[in-house]
Amino acid sequence: MLFKKVRTRFAPSPTGMMHLGGARTALFNYLFAKHFKGDFIVRFEDTDLKRNDFSSIDQLLSDLKWLGIKPCATIGTDDQYSPYRQSQRLNIYAKYAQELLLTKKVYPCFCTPLELKKVREKQIKKGQTAPKYNRKCWSLSSQKIIELQKAKTSFCLRFFVAPKQKIIFTDLVYGKMEFISENIEDFVIIKTNNYPTYNFAVVIDDYLMQISHVWRGSDHLSNTPKQILLYQTFGWQVPMFGHLSLIQFSSETKMSKRFEIPEQHIDYYRVQGYLPETFFNYLSLLGWTPDKFQELFTQEELIKLFDGNNLNKTQSIFSLSKLNWINNKKLLQLSDEEFQKQWFIFAFLKKQKILKNWNKDDNFEYFKKNNYQLQILDHPRIVLMILFFRKEINSLEDLFLILVKYIGCIDSLLDPEYLLLNHFLFQSLDKHIDETIWDENGIQSMLKQVQKDTNLKGRNFFAPIYYLINKLKEGPAMSTLLFLFGKDEIKQRLKKYFELHKTQKNN
Ligand code: GLU
Repeated sequence: MLFKKVRTRFAPSPTGMMHLGGARTALFNYLFAKHFKGDFIVRFEDTDLKRNDFSSIDQLLSDLKWLGIKPCATIGTDDQYSPYRQSQRLNIYAKYAQELLLTKKVYPCFCTPLELKKVREKQIKKGQTAPKYNRKCWSLSSQKIIELQKAKTSFCLRFFVAPKQKIIFTDLVYGKMEFISENIEDFVIIKTNNYPTYNFAVVIDDYLMQISHVWRGSDHLSNTPKQILLYQTFGWQVPMFGHLSLIQFSSETKMSKRFEIPEQHIDYYRVQGYLPETFFNYLSLLGWTPDKFQELFTQEELIKLFDGNNLNKTQSIFSLSKLNWINNKKLLQLSDEEFQKQWFIFAFLKKQKILKNWNKDDNFEYFKKNNYQLQILDHPRIVLMILFFRKEINSLEDLFLILVKYIGCIDSLLDPEYLLLNHFLFQSLDKHIDETIWDENGIQSMLKQVQKDTNLKGRNFFAPIYYLINKLKEGPAMSTLLFLFGKDEIKQRLKKYFELHKTQKNN
């Protein structure tokens, strides 16, 4: 390797939300650079004016930050390679394009989109499978060119692809790749609006930014020979290329930036409260197989192991159940203290109005279907609940479902007819509750007292109390459940019951 240092880059086009595929590319570039103690940069390729959405720059940077991928330079960095935004480097591309124009490696093309379309259609009609530009403008005389330019006819610059060339390179994932120049058309390097094309700008930037390794999606494989031709024309060293197999979302839909599905975006999972560590871990397994069978890794372990080997040629399938499994394991790895510090849990619950009133139009099909309302619980009680149920949680959505399952709203849960049968039981509970010390032992002796008072046993005794709490007739041990709900909550539910009882009697 002739490069002095490993330098990788993630070069997103700001055209929307961060894709899982994009995040995986960023991650592999990051891990590889870190493994070799190199640099990882983030450059924004915003030369497609039609597809640009500048608001996505902030979103992309914030998603990277959330994932724990820290570039050593990006937009805003002022160093020997900046700026890191292509639209701010137009003069640089113009200079190199001029150089190629002077040496006749590129030529102006005045063909209109309509003309180009007609050429293509004709070629397709003739049975040409890969239609390409017919080089009409290659043979324009200098005289004609000057005339057309004087008349302000718009033109682009095309790279002349010399015939009978073999472009060979060793891909870090796919091995030896061979292309022949006959299959490559004279591609545009500067568009009619003076902006560079992706294939041109990427070469200039990767060269000037001294990028040693380019890891990117295999959808870019067909661009690589064009880029290599440019490197060779300039006499520059070609970086190593590694094309990553694509991620499949389900068996039919491949990840596509142009076919937007929310579940393909990092943000979708971020909002649902998946841990960033989970994503860091899970993305690394999409297209890479570690030497020994292991699926849970810390960031440090991944940096140590990821050396660009063992990358898969076949597509990787995004699996939600695997993601959930990893998230569950990562949540369990947190100490209770760390777990409580996960502010996003509370932010999430607040957003879902679990800490306050929940409006049934707010979220989640499940609740729409069941028309549930939530109890208002205070923060410490929520913390207790979360810590207790964390083993069952994969995502915040699960947590939400579990909390609702166990908390459920009293109005929709109390079934007067059923409860009235147990009036003595609740009277006894109400009698003992105030003097009870609210810990496991205290609650257990309270329950024994109630049992003694009512002479009820087994199911007849427990079912009504479970019913009072959550209508589930199941769940954790009765004393634990009562403890988790808290004395005040149980008292309130009893109060509600007695009110109900009164109205029933008066009717
Ligand atoms: N801007 C290109 C993209 O977002 C980058 C491709 C590359 O890494 O060369 O697909």
